[in-house]
Amino acid sequence: MKLVVLGSPGVGKGTYTQELVQKYNLLHISTGDLFRENLKSETELGVQAKSFMDAGQLVPDEVTIGMVKERLSRDDANDNFVLDGFPRTIAQAEALTDITPIDMVINFKADKDVILGRLGGRIICRKCGQIFHKQNIPPKQDGICDTCGGELYERDDDKPEAIEKRLVVYEEQTSPLIGFYTEKGLLREVTVNEDFGTHKEEIMNRIFKVIDEK
Ligand code: ADP
Ligand code: ZN
Repeated sequence: MKLVVLGSPGVGKGTYTQELVQKYNLLHISTGDLFRENLKSETELGVQAKSFMDAGQLVPDEVTIGMVKERLSRDDANDNFVLDGFPRTIAQAEALTDITPIDMVINFKADKDVILGRLGGRIICRKCGQIFHKQNIPPKQDGICDTCGGELYERDDDKPEAIEKRLVVYEEQTSPLIGFYTEKGLLREVTVNEDFGTHKEEIMNRIFKVIDEK
């Protein structure tokens, strides 16, 4: 299955995607993670992306499309993957259509007040990338990953100014993809207003059902 996940910052897309990856044994291709890896190892690509990311803006399409094309051309990226964070513009979606056909696009939705509550408290494991939330999905031990014992940190672009910018960028540049994929008959929508910490099974079953109905 070739899956794309869409959703506003703060909707919990990364959290649900981690579960989908395990259940369907998908290769997880997250452009945010790819950029952060490049930043960490100070590659040319990382240098190009840094100022945009810190400001909560999109990295230019040429750079992003090139990176995804390269990732999808590697041996492990066969017909079983989920694209998380890509496409984020119509130009990227058109480029993806040329690279490979997608089977399904899931758009995660939540009410505005729910989204604002989820943004800001996110903490991530430095070692394995698992996502927690200070209030909604707290780790068993403060600052330490439940899964691997790694250190939990807060991303630079989870600062209030960058968060606001990411929401605006989403509305302006990414939300048009909903129409784009609806027209192609690929879009499915799942609303998640419940807390993942206390409703994990219910939420994931809702999402699995949508995928299995295909
Ligand atoms: P979020 O948690 O807001 O979904 P991501 O981890 O997906 O954030 O991405 C973090 C940042 O990386 C974005 O704000 C943007 O600067 C950059 N980025 C990620 N994916 C893309 C993309 N498809 N196009 C352009 N920039 C991207
Ligand atoms: Zn971890």
